[in-house]
Amino acid sequence: MEKLQYSDILISETRKEMVDKLERFTRAHPTDMLAYLKLGDLERENGSSKVATRLHKTLLANPSTSPEIRRRIYRSIIRDYISIPDYESTISFCKELEKIARDDVSSLQLIDEVYEDNQLWNEALQIRQRILKLKDATDNTTLGILHSFIGKELLKQGKGNEGLKHLKQSLKLDELCVTGMLFLAEYYYGKNRDKEAISLFMKILKEMPGYSTPVFERLEKLLYEKGRFSEMVTIYENFLNDHPDHSPTLLSLALLYKKRGDDAQAVDFLKRVLELDSKNIEAIKELVQLYLVSKDSPRATELIDQLLHILKPTTGFRCENCGHRFKDFLFRCPNCKKWMTIK
Ligand SMILES: [Zn+2]
Repeated sequence: MEKLQYSDILISETRKEMVDKLERFTRAHPTDMLAYLKLGDLERENGSSKVATRLHKTLLANPSTSPEIRRRIYRSIIRDYISIPDYESTISFCKELEKIARDDVSSLQLIDEVYEDNQLWNEALQIRQRILKLKDATDNTTLGILHSFIGKELLKQGKGNEGLKHLKQSLKLDELCVTGMLFLAEYYYGKNRDKEAISLFMKILKEMPGYSTPVFERLEKLLYEKGRFSEMVTIYENFLNDHPDHSPTLLSLALLYKKRGDDAQAVDFLKRVLELDSKNIEAIKELVQLYLVSKDSPRATELIDQLLHILKPTTGFRCENCGHRFKDFLFRCPNCKKWMTIK
């Protein structure tokens, strides 16, 4: 058998070729931990997560492993369990890794990612703080967000005072923390302190207009429940004065007019949406319905034709960092794990 080098493995053209070469390599070098580690990673990437977990876990049995390689094995096992997925084991291996990675940034970053994915906000906050300390950096924006989620969770559990403390802390760290303002507004609203809730919502619209979607959603609900739904029109109109080309708001306002039976206004606003975004399926759908109600079938037919020509829908939300699209609005991108990149 010819002698395989690491470089031979590296130049594999397919994953299968790499697996074959690695298997041969590990047979020839049974003590090469990194080769085994990589072999397990490839198994996981090929969809055999359970095989990968077994392989990676046997590596832990070796007592002479260096701390750095040991942490790498843990990171691989955590990724194996994430892909199975096995929540309990993922978390328990993260806790184990935490103990041996107190000053290892790449391990801590993986742990933080897992905690945030699983909404373990308190744990995530502690890991973030440790990473920042190690890197001698500050990131009050993210710390503020994590405090706001801890606060929201505590409020949900009925721990009002503690929850409020975290929400206030989030705004102390970052006075424009959108989630902090949103959750605090929801708290005020729940306590029938409508004025304070609405003023916070308005502050977000003014200072952080990019987050109008979650604010409008909540404002609509609040004002509807309080029988003050007509105020929503004014709120949308005021927002449009400052941001005339904001098509989600134009669409919401159109729907509101439609709900109130003011079809002419609804049609006008839907047309404005389509001027800005001719492929907006929601707007086309609404406009077709309105044309059909008013028995304007030529216009309806024209729009249906337009709809049939649209191959790729462009509605929904998009991550500015990685480009992933989502149907619903999210604060943290599940794909690239960045906060506040979805617009
Ligand atoms: Zn992303």
